[in-house]
Amino acid sequence: MALVAAQKIGLEIHIYPRTQCKMFCACSSDFLHAEANTNVCPVCTGQPGSKPMSPNMACVVAGLQMARTLSMDISASPVSTLRKHYFYPDLPSNYQRTAEPLATGGKLQGFELREIHWEEDPGQYDMAKGVVDLNRSGVPLLELVTEPVLRNPSDAKAVLNDTLLLLQYLEIVREEAPFKVDTNISLEGGERVEVKNINSISGVVRALEFEFERQSDLLDRGLPVQQETRHFDEIKMKTYPMRFKETAEDYRYMRDPDIIPLNVGEIAVPDLGNPFTILESMCASGAREEDARAIVSNRDLVFAYNRVASGSNPLFASHFVARDLRGELNFRKMPPSFVAGEGRMTQIAAIAAAWSSGRLSNQSSTSLLRSVFEGRDVSAELRTTEGVFADEASLDRVAAEVISSNPDVAERYRKGSTEVINYLVGLCMKKLEGKARARDVVVALRRRLG
Ligand SMILES: [Zn+2]
Repeated sequence: MALVAAQKIGLEIHIYPRTQCKMFCACSSDFLHAEANTNVCPVCTGQPGSKPMSPNMACVVAGLQMARTLSMDISASPVSTLRKHYFYPDLPSNYQRTAEPLATGGKLQGFELREIHWEEDPGQYDMAKGVVDLNRSGVPLLELVTEPVLRNPSDAKAVLNDTLLLLQYLEIVREEAPFKVDTNISLEGGERVEVKNINSISGVVRALEFEFERQSDLLDRGLPVQQETRHFDEIKMKTYPMRFKETAEDYRYMRDPDIIPLNVGEIAVPDLGNPFTILESMCASGAREEDARAIVSNRDLVFAYNRVASGSNPLFASHFVARDLRGELNFRKMPPSFVAGEGRMTQIAAIAAAWSSGRLSNQSSTSLLRSVFEGRDVSAELRTTEGVFADEASLDRVAAEVISSNPDVAERYRKGSTEVINYLVGLCMKKLEGKARARDVVVALRRRLG
């Protein structure tokens, strides 16, 4: 490869908001589990004379919540629904309903956003069998569009990860099928190429990497990169041509005369806080980003984090919630809302506070936490366990016992393999039934080992 060409990448993120109904009719929006062509009516099958309902308010509110968190400008004028015309077997009306932006501007990961608007999904066409399923026809989508200012596939990954985090925090996305992405990429000296319908974040990264290689190869050989739309094969991890050059005029956009424009500025939107601000402050207080992201992806975990942090410190709290608490939830296949019950949260916070201040050993803390998850009230047990540790004489006795029954390990320690002390600490802890702080056991062992 001759030169590393500058890339310009844009994303169109088609989000499936968590809604009961379709965008313009009362049919169920379940297209993943229902039998083919059962969630349909005259509106979403495009029958003549059928009248659509006004846009699904759950979808509109979800879009407004996103717009507000991303500091976008919400449209001051009424927002019209549009018809975008094209012909395909999955689109019985021969137009897809989309809309003017409900908000514009704003930033994500420092990259400028263009707009967000609602639209409806087309049906699903099985090309091999020639069969159409219209359960998906009319399902609500929110399309978040970035300006083409991303510089490489990792920027795209960062933007998509943050989009997912925002959707999860706001609880407005379907977990099973959060979004599908169209991405466009152009290299200096070439035209813009669009890759459509990618279902995963890793797929977007691979498609962009593939396109970068393909386009730079053409440009290096002095061949043109034409404007075209390609599709991405997730199994072969390659993009293939779909169609060449299409412009907005090809779609003959027009306002949908059946749907009254919506005054989005007048719609009340709940204020649920900003996940990015929470994430930033957690990371600034020393939390690992991985832990902080795991917590911010769920508001019940954020609630638990705040409660635990108020009795300990941010670093301990982030680790406790992301690892210990989530570990118990995942192990028991319980939703995070389980910890939010006030009785439970009070006990969990008390265990965490005693643990972080050293009044409770690791083993006792873990065992009490498990008891809470098993539905027991541990308040009394916590009071009697707290601060009950083996005294210095017992620590010394146990350290001596463990060393004399493991002479080879003790020898290795004395010869410089100091890390083997962890093994001895484990054995002491077992003998002490966890009623000791690890750091005190280390001191007792070191004293004996000389
Ligand atoms: Zn319908």
